[in-house]
Amino acid sequence: MESTIINGRAVADEVLASCATKISQGDVVPGLAVIIVGDNPASQVYVRNKVRACEKAGLHSEKYALSVDVSEVELLGKVAQLNADPAIHGILVQLPLPAHINEDKVLTAIAAHKDVDGFHPENIGRLVAGLPGLRPCTPAGCMVLLERAGVSLSGSRAVVIGRSNIVGKPMALMLINAGATVTVCNSKTPSLAATVQQADIVIAAVGRPRLITAEMIKSGATVIDVGINREDGGLVGDVDFESVRTVAGAITPVPGGVGPMTIAMLVSNTLQAAIA
Ligand code: NAP
Repeated sequence: MESTIINGRAVADEVLASCATKISQGDVVPGLAVIIVGDNPASQVYVRNKVRACEKAGLHSEKYALSVDVSEVELLGKVAQLNADPAIHGILVQLPLPAHINEDKVLTAIAAHKDVDGFHPENIGRLVAGLPGLRPCTPAGCMVLLERAGVSLSGSRAVVIGRSNIVGKPMALMLINAGATVTVCNSKTPSLAATVQQADIVIAAVGRPRLITAEMIKSGATVIDVGINREDGGLVGDVDFESVRTVAGAITPVPGGVGPMTIAMLVSNTLQAAIA
């Protein structure tokens, strides 16, 4: 069986185009502030791509590059200033932060209605309760890809591999809210292969290159690969794409799958925050 390749770049372009249309027709120019601390090369690339996507969609964006030794108090001061700025509707603090800064404290300091990454405890609580709110961008992007691929979630069996606060856990909650029967795996899960084999929908968010192989996949399953692993100067996912594509019904590539959706959902969240 040759699977359908889910083109995340194309879907992300559609989401961005739809945001751009709404922004050009609206009265408010949504404003996003991105704070980056230090010079982590991967973070620099992510932030550059986010700012570029904002500009493309017609958002106002501001970038604050702070030195790696900025104090927690100074960073919290910047967040407080942006919380009070009426031209800014979304605030994103690029992770990871240096070890001397308490990430949870900083993320919780962002006003919940400007938390376009969806990591604030209030927004996570709203997700748990199934209430509207700003949703974490990567799992929200996976949900859009599943919807566009025509995958029916209610009554399906989904397996999420990874339980991080930014991907695995919110992903599982979104699938639960959509009516899927969800299993969440971690590094200690016994019989990972047998568990994944049960799934109609597999979400891999691990950070281990090609961990998920064809033998683990039920024929016809939908496989969403969140993993981004740097290897030999290129990017590979958590799924062994070449073998799994011969078994899966549909699969996302890396790059060109979930990655572009994360950025598109950030723009969508900023628009949502601006018009709320
Ligand atoms: P993370 O915080 O390191 O979490 C990884 C999770 O995978 C943990 O829950 C860990 O289990 C689990 N795990 C590790 N080895 C495993 C194994 N052998 N079997 C089963 N589970 C295992 O990572 P993350 O932030 O969620 O990111 C996951 C991946 O997605 C990374 O490659 C990251 O770069 C990528 N990512 C991509 C995007 C995007 O836009 N495409 C966005 C965010 C992240 P324990 O909890 O037991 O340690």
